[in-house]
Amino acid sequence: MDISRQTTDIDALCEERYRKLEEAIAQSTQIKSTERIRRAYEYARAAHGDQLRKDGSPYITHPLAAAVIVAEMGLDEESVIAALLHDVIEDTEVTHEDVAKQFGESVAAIVEGVTKLTKMRYTSKEEEQMENLRKMLLAMARDIRVVLIKMADRLHNMRTMEYQSSQKQLEKSRETMEIYAPIAHRLGMQKIKLELEDLSLLYLDPVGYREIEAALQERETKNAGFMERTEAAIRRRMEEAHVTCAVQSRTKDIYSIYRKMYGKSMEFEEIMDIYAFRVIVDDIAECYNVLGCIHELYKPVPGRFKDYIGTPKPNMYQSLHTTVIGSEGIPFEVQIRTWEMHRTAEYGIAAHWKYKDGIQGRADEDKFAWIRNLLETQEDSDASDFISNLKVDMFADEVYVFTPHGDVKALPAGATPIDFAYSIHSAIGNRMTCAKVNGRIVPFSHVLQNGDVVEVITSSTSKGPSRDWLTLVKSSEARNKIRQWFKKERREENIVTGRAAFEAEMRRQAVPLTVLSDEKALPRLLERLSVSALDDMYASIGYGGLSAQKTVNNIKDEMRLIERTAKKLGASPVWASADGKQPHPVNGIVVEGIDNCLVKFSHCCMPVPGDEVVGFITRGYGVSIHRTDCRNYASSAEREEERDRWIRVHWAPGEDDLYSTAIAITAEDRDGLVMDIATVLSSLKVKVDALTARNQQGLATVYITMRVHDKSELAAAMTKIMNVRNVKEVKRQGA
Ligand code: MN
Repeated sequence: MDISRQTTDIDALCEERYRKLEEAIAQSTQIKSTERIRRAYEYARAAHGDQLRKDGSPYITHPLAAAVIVAEMGLDEESVIAALLHDVIEDTEVTHEDVAKQFGESVAAIVEGVTKLTKMRYTSKEEEQMENLRKMLLAMARDIRVVLIKMADRLHNMRTMEYQSSQKQLEKSRETMEIYAPIAHRLGMQKIKLELEDLSLLYLDPVGYREIEAALQERETKNAGFMERTEAAIRRRMEEAHVTCAVQSRTKDIYSIYRKMYGKSMEFEEIMDIYAFRVIVDDIAECYNVLGCIHELYKPVPGRFKDYIGTPKPNMYQSLHTTVIGSEGIPFEVQIRTWEMHRTAEYGIAAHWKYKDGIQGRADEDKFAWIRNLLETQEDSDASDFISNLKVDMFADEVYVFTPHGDVKALPAGATPIDFAYSIHSAIGNRMTCAKVNGRIVPFSHVLQNGDVVEVITSSTSKGPSRDWLTLVKSSEARNKIRQWFKKERREENIVTGRAAFEAEMRRQAVPLTVLSDEKALPRLLERLSVSALDDMYASIGYGGLSAQKTVNNIKDEMRLIERTAKKLGASPVWASADGKQPHPVNGIVVEGIDNCLVKFSHCCMPVPGDEVVGFITRGYGVSIHRTDCRNYASSAEREEERDRWIRVHWAPGEDDLYSTAIAITAEDRDGLVMDIATVLSSLKVKVDALTARNQQGLATVYITMRVHDKSELAAAMTKIMNVRNVKEVKRQGA
């Protein structure tokens, strides 16, 4: 055979296959013109060049056959084009950009989606893993057309599986049985589901398959002409009743019989619906009319009537089913449905393309709106199962990723490698030093995508998780395990961070910290919180076992109880506050936003009324008051970790208390110096608490601690002292 002759043969074969696609398109109401489809066909054919399939036919025959199936489903032009191109990105030089340029971004996106699913790795696993794989497949697809094209691709590959190695046959059949057929079922694509199952069974259990095939054949010989006679009888009855309809007959598919025989241990003879007849009519009323006619004609088997029109199956299937005994004593099933129900039964979700023109043009999130509506109006229990399944599938708030061994892990959407690591084992998470996604090192904050292969690198010298991880994880499993670690490993640290968080929350809720120094109240509070000591409480908050907010809420509740009891006794607890919104001054200081907190004055700068002051929230000892010109304030406010602990305070007006403060006097020493200073202070009626003097090489330093009402009193005293002979300088402490 010369080469040009061969080329002509191939051309002829391809053209013949292409005509089959045209025929399928002619039946479709979705596609008006084949112009772009022809172009896609030629483009794909050129791209695949002289690649051959295992059976020796040109590769293009495969995408052509897939496109025929897609057209038969009634999908749109873009889907048929994408089906024709579905292997070009995977198997040829053509890129996503090329496809987008030639046929538009949306076709390119579908082809890319199909390619992604093709690359997915399946390994046979237990049922839970299988369910995850199915969910991952659906979640990865985004556009349902991707799944439908993948179904068509798989269906044609299964139809031509005989040319593959037996290893490949087994592998693909198992995958089809475990992944694709259940998805087809869930999407209501009965016709494709049944064919996929029968084709898979042929390779998975050829003996069982042939046994049933033989039994069916034997049955057919025994009941020769039964199908034809019954079909004719039904048709005659329909004519008498003036019903316009189509009557179809079929024998039950092999896998369904197989399942009944092996799954439910039924004998072949016990299966009632080996023979099935179908009456397809124009409207629902006619369905019930036909049912009446059938029951007049044949004796119904009690308990076998099912009204899936009134109560559709979860996957949208609708029909009336009844089992009757034929005139020859042979039981058979009759299914009655409208044409619309028929399409739905055969093609499920795909069938609805036809009735919803807007789908292609809509925003992504609307794509499934009609499915959602459809599902949400169904209330029976089967349906709710399906709804929750489909919701998980289609509106996924989960993400599915692979371990390096091919196991699938389901994680909450937005999960990071940290979630992944802890989902494997807490020891893996605790020792994680680095993570790889699809072979590349990623930061811990990296958000995982469906189908990612995630690898965790651990080290025995790892210092353990970081507290930041708690903000990066999405799963409660990871969060709990990290907290667990901190609980065990970092008690000291937990106490410090927990205490800070607790005190911050107390301030936020304006609960005085003084409650913790109330000797009577404290044991009750600890008991209520089920901890034996304050440090335990801080530690729990530190590792996240207790929430600071809940703890403070509990404390507030307990305080209310104590206050109530105290009131009855006419007493008031340490922290007790009067009503009114204004915070009450403590020691002459109003701490803004906090009522009745413990207030002390710092020793470093000893402020008095009239000084500009600021408060520092100490750990456990209330608020300490500093002057705004205090050196400690200036340096502490520069430190980021302390900055937030400084709060606004002011002197309460109209107070008449005395405040302790200190000054330092420098003078050339002389006899009677200290006495002169003391006399000045005494004349001013200033209360002196302590006075010390030191002499260093003729220079005297006198330290005085005293009590004054305010800054002006202090200033007056300082000026007077300045006038004492030999005094060179009078300074306040801390200045
Ligand atoms: Mn393919």
